[in-house]
Amino acid sequence: MSDCLFCKIIAGEIPSTKVYEDELVLAFQDIAPQAPTHILVIPKKHIASVAEINEENSSVVSHIFEVIAKIAKEEGLSGGYRVVSNCGDDAGQTVHHLHFHILGGKKLNVEMA
Ligand code: 5GP
Ligand code: ZN
Repeated sequence: MSDCLFCKIIAGEIPSTKVYEDELVLAFQDIAPQAPTHILVIPKKHIASVAEINEENSSVVSHIFEVIAKIAKEEGLSGGYRVVSNCGDDAGQTVHHLHFHILGGKKLNVEMA
């Protein structure tokens, strides 16, 4: 996707602070952190949102969750953390490339909406 911000980050056209990378996924620091730890984990292959996950592309999602668990350990989030994926306008999704927020490093608010 040539006009996708996160595809540009994957391509190195927009700089990011990388936390983890392999052939399938990239994790990097959120530019506007909402918590002491705020990392985004994305598939390298463009998927627009959770709504676009299907039988053909879902294997990367389980890999993303393995990576999330690994990153959380490395970041020392032993007290817990939250994983969030905003899907669509009502949820406030602003970048239309599937991403999972890892939020932690403080006691998070419990409100879900
Ligand atoms: P959403 O609102 O779609 O769930 O999350 C998009 C996230 O991407 C936001 O937390 C926002 O701060 C982050 N973001 C937007 N543009 C950039 C950027 O250029 N670089 C990085 N590292 N994060 C970005
Ligand atoms: Zn993309």
